[in-house]
Amino acid sequence: MRRKLVAGNWKMNGLTASLPEIEAIAAAAAANPGVDAALCLPATLIAPAVTVAGALPIGGQDCHAKDSGAHTGNIAAPMLGEAGAKLVIVGHSERRADQGETDACVKAKAEAGHRHGLSVILCVGETLDQRDAGQAEEVVTAQIAGSLPDGADGAWLSIAYEPVWAIGTGRTPTEADVAARHGAVRAKLSELLGADAAARLRILYGGSVSGANAAALLACADGDGALVGGASLTADKFVPIIEAAA
Ligand code: 13P
Repeated sequence: MRRKLVAGNWKMNGLTASLPEIEAIAAAAAANPGVDAALCLPATLIAPAVTVAGALPIGGQDCHAKDSGAHTGNIAAPMLGEAGAKLVIVGHSERRADQGETDACVKAKAEAGHRHGLSVILCVGETLDQRDAGQAEEVVTAQIAGSLPDGADGAWLSIAYEPVWAIGTGRTPTEADVAARHGAVRAKLSELLGADAAARLRILYGGSVSGANAAALLACADGDGALVGGASLTADKFVPIIEAAA
């Protein structure tokens, strides 16, 4: 039985002034033990957040494939772990687009995260042009095939399906579309890992999740939670999403 996971992705937002929000989110997460919650923060906020987050897992938003070296501006998985991170997002569409991350690069990052004891949320999703061309399923399953880490296991890996056109736009796919995409992801995982292993991986939906639409999006077939951007920045917006999953 897969537990629901509701993870927040703060992206490039958050200063120490936000620590009370993190504390409030952690308190709400503790009050909803039936759902797993987590917050993926800017690297600078991880260590301070850990001091106020109690049992709420704090994560990073990227890690390098290598453990150390001459890679100016990057962050390595052991650094996240030392700061207190328990998880990391890899392959977010903003990084695939802004940093030109390929599937192979994302796979290596996921493996680095796991090698250093972090849970991993691996993101996939089609652009609007790809969707309009009827290629959503093909794009998403190709991303899964190319970026799934070796040794993929539901004990540490979740897949986030985030249609690029739904991120930060207030637009969401229909529930039927979400269910179809999740089904395609699950089928691809089955093909690559076998049905039993595929059944253990959580599939999250991401893209304009809010308190108003969370219950419907979380109920889509094959869905096991949400990856939330803008609505995870404050407790008043994020807590209702955690509660909708509980
Ligand atoms: P929004 O919830 O702001 O659309 O962002 C989704 C996202 O990209 C989470 O990783």
